[in-house]
Amino acid sequence: MRPCAEPGCPVLLRKAGRCQKHRRYSPTYLERDWAEQKRRAAVVAKHRATHGDWCPGWPSTGHAPHACTDLTAAHVVAVANGGGAGPLLVLCRSENSRLRDSDE
Ligand SMILES: [Zn+2]
Ligand SMILES: [Zn+2]
Repeated sequence: MRPCAEPGCPVLLRKAGRCQKHRRYSPTYLERDWAEQKRRAAVVAKHRATHGDWCPGWPSTGHAPHACTDLTAAHVVAVANGGGAGPLLVLCRSENSRLRDSDE
């Protein structure tokens, strides 16, 4: 048994990592999560089927819609704020990472 990776958390786990309560606060953990990857891929695939290679933009940051082949699924609510299981939006990779940087 190993303790949860969250400092001060007393929960013991069978594998190294975080307990269920702290797991969703770790964006890096979610990035590696297979089910989450699959969910993101499905959202992007569905968007492509409907709109093609098109970034819909992000109005709140003034990011205008544009043609884009490097699309990724973005969390409407940042993962760090508990949005890990929330709805996903399609956005270009550069804007997605820019939004992520501003969250942290
Ligand atoms: Zn914990
Ligand atoms: Zn874009």
